Amino acid sequence: MSVTADHRPTKLYISQHAVTHNLAETRKAAHAKTVFLAVKANAYGFGLLEMSRAAVNGGADGLAVAVLDEALALRQHGFTIPILVMSIVMPQYAEELADNDLITTVASDQWLHDAQPYLAQAGQPLKVSMGIDTGMGRIGYRSRAEMDASLQFMQAHPDDFEYYGLMTHFSQADSSEVDYFHKQLARWHELTDTFPHPPMVHVANSGAAMYHADEIPTDVIRAGTVVYGIEPSLGELRDASYLEPVLTLTTQLIFVKQMHAGDGISYGHIYEAKEGEWVGTIPLGYGDGLTRRLTGAEVLVNGQRCQILGKLAMDAMMIRLPGPLPLGTKVTVLGRDGDEEITLDEWADFTGFAPWELSINLNDRLIREISE
Ligand SMILES: *Cc1c(COP(=O)(O)O)cnc(C)c1O
Repeated sequence: MSVTADHRPTKLYISQHAVTHNLAETRKAAHAKTVFLAVKANAYGFGLLEMSRAAVNGGADGLAVAVLDEALALRQHGFTIPILVMSIVMPQYAEELADNDLITTVASDQWLHDAQPYLAQAGQPLKVSMGIDTGMGRIGYRSRAEMDASLQFMQAHPDDFEYYGLMTHFSQADSSEVDYFHKQLARWHELTDTFPHPPMVHVANSGAAMYHADEIPTDVIRAGTVVYGIEPSLGELRDASYLEPVLTLTTQLIFVKQMHAGDGISYGHIYEAKEGEWVGTIPLGYGDGLTRRLTGAEVLVNGQRCQILGKLAMDAMMIRLPGPLPLGTKVTVLGRDGDEEITLDEWADFTGFAPWELSINLNDRLIREISE
């Protein structure tokens, strides 16, 4: 069991305005009618329920998860929106998939045969989205013969299966290197051009939606990063300014002190204070999923940048203050304060991690809330 800190002045906000804006930008760029937001892995760390709620409010048409439990959690919390499960679920859970109306990725003919016995008692046919491996090399049909066999099997068992989706996934759609993308696209055409198309043909992730919309079907897209306000090419193909950052992480000063020259700060005392320096402590640390590589990065206090001093501790970090500020002063760790803003992109530049590698670790001790 993980405990969420409700009695601590540290909170992660998901901006409804930003989610709505980023969804609209994505839809426009991709000319998409139907946008499924990828909310797998706790919505890239942003928070499964909060992000899904913001997405539904902001105009998403569906949600996409990786594992069955994520989909079940959404259904249990009242989400009636279409949900796509993108990874392989064990065939013995076919009935749960069907009864919760989950669009299910099927990557082999074997899976359909293994799942069928479990569908005898299901209340409705299982919605099958056939995944085609065009070069991602993860999961998916790799031959037309096997695809044909599965289609026949589904048609022979209409009470058990509904052929509902056809998809593939591109391994590189977000950079100026386009050769492998085109190789995958050619393979997609080869395998699917003369194969019956179901209601939901979906091939685009964020990169493909933003940068290849003219070349691929984009009626239905599966977008993650771009809606989270992270530019899919990390700025290589387009400046990120068309997106709005989604996350704000704020806290308060819980301790303030004046230092003497040579006083150490935090584990290993890698920082030594100067005479008279004011230092504040904030209740947030690597125990909340922040990387310790943020040592030396900045936070915002009263619209000014202040440096994180010494190593992040598990539950606290220390920052240099411009002077003796009162306890309870707001500290913005991610987000905007006045003219200054700290984003996941800045953290990525500072630490060398990708923005989503940083967000994915933000854990459940952080209480989350949707803000305007
Ligand atoms: C995660 C995922 C997506 C979303 O990818 P982004 O690059 O974040 O847009 C789309 N499709 C599949 C199969 C995925 O696993």
